[in-house]
Amino acid sequence: WWSGVQMGPPDAILGVTEAFRRDTNPNKINLGVGAYRDDNGKPYVLPCVRKAEEQLRSKNLDKEYAPISGTPDFCKRSIELALGDNSDIIANGLNATVQGISGTGSLRVGAAFLNGFFPGSKTVYLPAPTWGNHIPIFKHAGLDVKSYRYYDPNTCGLDFKGALEDISNIPEKSIILLHACAHNPTGVDPNKDQWAELSQLIKKKNLFTYFDMAYQGFATGSVDNDALAHKSYAKNMGLYGERAGAFSIIGSSKEEADRTLSQIKILIRALYSNPPINGARIVSEILSDPKLRSDWLREVKEMADRIISVRTKLRENLKKRRINSQLGTYHKSNWNVLFHRNETRSG
Ligand code: PLP
Repeated sequence: WWSGVQMGPPDAILGVTEAFRRDTNPNKINLGVGAYRDDNGKPYVLPCVRKAEEQLRSKNLDKEYAPISGTPDFCKRSIELALGDNSDIIANGLNATVQGISGTGSLRVGAAFLNGFFPGSKTVYLPAPTWGNHIPIFKHAGLDVKSYRYYDPNTCGLDFKGALEDISNIPEKSIILLHACAHNPTGVDPNKDQWAELSQLIKKKNLFTYFDMAYQGFATGSVDNDALAHKSYAKNMGLYGERAGAFSIIGSSKEEADRTLSQIKILIRALYSNPPINGARIVSEILSDPKLRSDWLREVKEMADRIISVRTKLRENLKKRRINSQLGTYHKSNWNVLFHRNETRSG
């Protein structure tokens, strides 16, 4: 049956990890997957996660299936973290929130829902560049994918003029994807005023916004500054392999949110029935226990601050090397490649 199946290429990012595992050089560094590492280059488990696991063990919980939409407490705490505790949206029951299989699975469920029910154009506009997996995730769900200008390699910053121009040419009632914070792969985010202008334009064009929030807390070290919508706990709690994420749709009434939720549950049932319980329990334990929660907030900030200081040191040392180098100068485009390869977080 399968003699006609061609060998597929390894995944561009995860393939680097495979090559990394094979490499016997003791000084090797994996710059592929953007998972946080300690000073020895080793995976890092947050102390608050270890404590939460201990607390959970002592509760002797069962292994029953979660509901289709995931653990209710996890969903509630996730949307509160995304929108803030005092959000009117939550108070009025306007959100339909489900637990997804980390960020990827949550995006995929959202994409399936949009393909089935979005009443406008089934085209998603992604920033150029974007996280590589966005394109297949939306395509596999049956949506078309196009892009809008985002990054300017000449300034290593936001191409704000280009973004506004392209977004104003998107047909009304299309879908636009925005990285809520810590844009992957560029690390470039709009500032507050630019967000306000983008928001006005997107509303004027009647576009549906899909926020991917894979890095809440990583851009500034504060989960409140970075809060907006849809999320993953892979990075900000270091729960990569636990696959804990959430997907939310905001409706215009509670009744609309309930209808939306019912359809999302039907999609999930056919995809994977219900999500894994362990990561969601860890997240709930951390967010519900005041001591663990404050530990976590401090630990996210420590990670974010350390990332910033490592990058600053890298930049300084590269500059020094450039000045000292007999070989002369790096061309500006090489600098872009150097910095942005190293700043890339991909998974
Ligand atoms: N979205 C973006 C922008 C990402 O960078 C990533 C991971 O690197 C994800 C989503 C999904 O990550 P995960 O499925 O591990 O939560």
